[in-house]
Amino acid sequence: MTIYNLGSINIDHVYRLPVLPRAGETMHALSYAQGLGGKGANQSVAAARAGTPVVHLGALGTAEDWVIARLAAAGVDTSGIVRLADTATGHAIILVDASGENSIVLHGGANMALPADLPERAAFGPGDLLLMQNETSLQVQTAARARSAGTRVIYSAAPFEIEALRAVLPHVSILAVNAIEARDTFAAFGEDLPIEGLLITRGAEGAEFRDLQGGQSWHQPAFRVAAVDTTGAGDCFAGWFAAGLARGEDAPTALRHAAAAAAVQVTRAGAGDAMPDRAEVMAFLKAQG
Ligand code: ADP
Repeated sequence: MTIYNLGSINIDHVYRLPVLPRAGETMHALSYAQGLGGKGANQSVAAARAGTPVVHLGALGTAEDWVIARLAAAGVDTSGIVRLADTATGHAIILVDASGENSIVLHGGANMALPADLPERAAFGPGDLLLMQNETSLQVQTAARARSAGTRVIYSAAPFEIEALRAVLPHVSILAVNAIEARDTFAAFGEDLPIEGLLITRGAEGAEFRDLQGGQSWHQPAFRVAAVDTTGAGDCFAGWFAAGLARGEDAPTALRHAAAAAAVQVTRAGAGDAMPDRAEVMAFLKAQG
């Protein structure tokens, strides 16, 4: 059971400032931190730390070897990541003021310039899973190829774009959305979606999985923790949920493990770097009794 993840890889540059700069203003940052981000990389790290084989399909520029090293250290198979000359690695410039308010500039770079033959690097088969999010090119082509090989496709509709979702939906098995994305999805397509299942996460209110073919649904409350940074919580949840399904867990078990992983993740700063491993998640669940 391999998880393939057609996913974005971003470098997050985080600058703390007293206030956000106005147009025309230049300001010294109080601090700077660099981290691994991108919804794709976050989900790959989460699923790999959950103990599932993960092959990441993506691209980055020719510098920044540390990104590959960090993904590999998390247990991600990086053989499906191509290096593109003359293309910037995807990145986010994140400005955070003293009150925690932020302004973000995102540049897709290599994530949006994936070579057309990239999906061929995946040896899709029945029992495998393909994860995708809306931060790369080649979504429809890769999803169609996976489905024709009997591989289920889990799609995170984030950042939410109606047209991207409309294009990929015929190839999606399970749609993963947060509360706001769920509302937008239902407004556009109704609740009776032509897919196998729907995963909705609702922050501190928990998550639910609807089996749209069997008609059953399960709700998983969030675990109560002191959250310090919820960046990447949804990716942690999606990665762990996918890992659970790939391991043959039933939906309620996969939901419970994903909720525990996300609860641990939000107690730490960072996104990809904050994903817990299986031992940490099992220890957390044991401590919950
Ligand atoms: P996204 O980051 O995509 O908006 P959510 O905010 O819905 O995703 O969070 C995903 C999951 O992370 C939730 O379903 C929950 O299990 C967990 N989570 C998020 N915020 C908290 C929190 N404050 N306390 C505990 N768990 C949380």
